[in-house]
Amino acid sequence: MKKKRSYVCDVCGYESPAWFGRCPSCNEWNTAIAFLTERDQEDSSSAAGFEAKPLSEIDGDESPRMDTRIEELNRSLGGGIVPGSAILVSGEPGIGKSTLMLQLSDLIAGEKPVLYISGEESVRQLRLRAERLRLSNKERIEVVSANEIDSLKVSGIDKYGMVVVDSLQTIRMSSVPSLPGSVVQVRECSNMLVSLAKSSDIPFLMVSHITKGGQIAGPKLVEHLVDTVLYFESSKTGYRFLRTVKNRFGPSDEIAVFEMTSEGLREVSDISSLFVEDYTSAPGNVVSVIYEGSRAFLIEVQALVSKPVYGTPRRLASGVPLERLLLVTAVLTKRAGIPLDSLDLYLNVAGGLQIEDTGVDLAIAAALVSSYTDTSLPEGVAFFGEIGLDGTVRSVSSTEKRVERAKKSSFSRIAAPEGRNGIKDVKQLLKIIGGMKSGKE
Ligand SMILES: [Zn+2]
Repeated sequence: MKKKRSYVCDVCGYESPAWFGRCPSCNEWNTAIAFLTERDQEDSSSAAGFEAKPLSEIDGDESPRMDTRIEELNRSLGGGIVPGSAILVSGEPGIGKSTLMLQLSDLIAGEKPVLYISGEESVRQLRLRAERLRLSNKERIEVVSANEIDSLKVSGIDKYGMVVVDSLQTIRMSSVPSLPGSVVQVRECSNMLVSLAKSSDIPFLMVSHITKGGQIAGPKLVEHLVDTVLYFESSKTGYRFLRTVKNRFGPSDEIAVFEMTSEGLREVSDISSLFVEDYTSAPGNVVSVIYEGSRAFLIEVQALVSKPVYGTPRRLASGVPLERLLLVTAVLTKRAGIPLDSLDLYLNVAGGLQIEDTGVDLAIAAALVSSYTDTSLPEGVAFFGEIGLDGTVRSVSSTEKRVERAKKSSFSRIAAPEGRNGIKDVKQLLKIIGGMKSGKE
């Protein structure tokens, strides 16, 4: 086995074959750590030559996925856990990652024992948590409070149905001269765990912490190593969102919703109208139908347009990227002659959701116009469509599913680019919203 010496910045992960006093990437001093990288896999294969097989002889059956018995989680993963996959579950501390992992372990342990590597809580704390969650397969969840994971490579992990590592920031490999949680340690441990998952065909779930300030090393660095990345987020309303941001085995924009109860996380399977439950018609409030992952659901967009208190107008967006608000504002000002450019604009998506779907554009525009003209829309109207720089309203994916969803939730009037009476450009918005108020349309 050939070993290669390299130097890695312990702050940002910058790697160089030569020693550096100051990291050229993050400009920190004295962060270079020397260590030997094992290139065993590549070297051994090149030494032994390679063995090629005709494509037709390669086993083409998709390996059966493991049913997690948590429907929302199955959907997030694209239909269950793929054996041998490496799944990163990241989120802020205290959000419920360990709770979810324990609940999942309990369900998997019904069939095969689960190995739970806990560097985060003492084994006793974990037991207490398991009692609180009323787990039923505790005898088949084997806990090891290992902070050094080197032994995993040699010990027989074959009997396990799943391995949980909680968390990446607390484990270490003794061969890496760096503290747990450091960039180098997290990277090396993740590398080792991912290859262990592949070689054993056992799924590895790895918990990783992130802070709002991005203080703790890890997730970004690990994301390209793993097959699937799930982000666990909380909302102001108390719901927990599990967002799939990367998935080699399924759609990468799924959102699963959970509720934290005294007995752990409970899945919320029908989110179609969950985020419009508190909707009331008022100037600036508009309902939109969003399509994220594999389902459509309703959201409420709220806008407030007001005279600036200070010289420069303010723009604040929560729940949609600020760029969407800026783009829609510019288009409305330039193409529809609504002078929003000199006004304060506040935008919010109720429920704490973060929307990436550009189909929300038309609802943003409608909410701004509704607040600007101080006009409430009648109840039961839903907007969707993407807005182009030229002021046109463009169709978006899964139109039929959106329409169907809206109608089922008694939003029977759809304002969208499709259809004979469809909205073609943003200029029509003023007329439509004015007409809706007077009931003319
Ligand atoms: Zn650096």
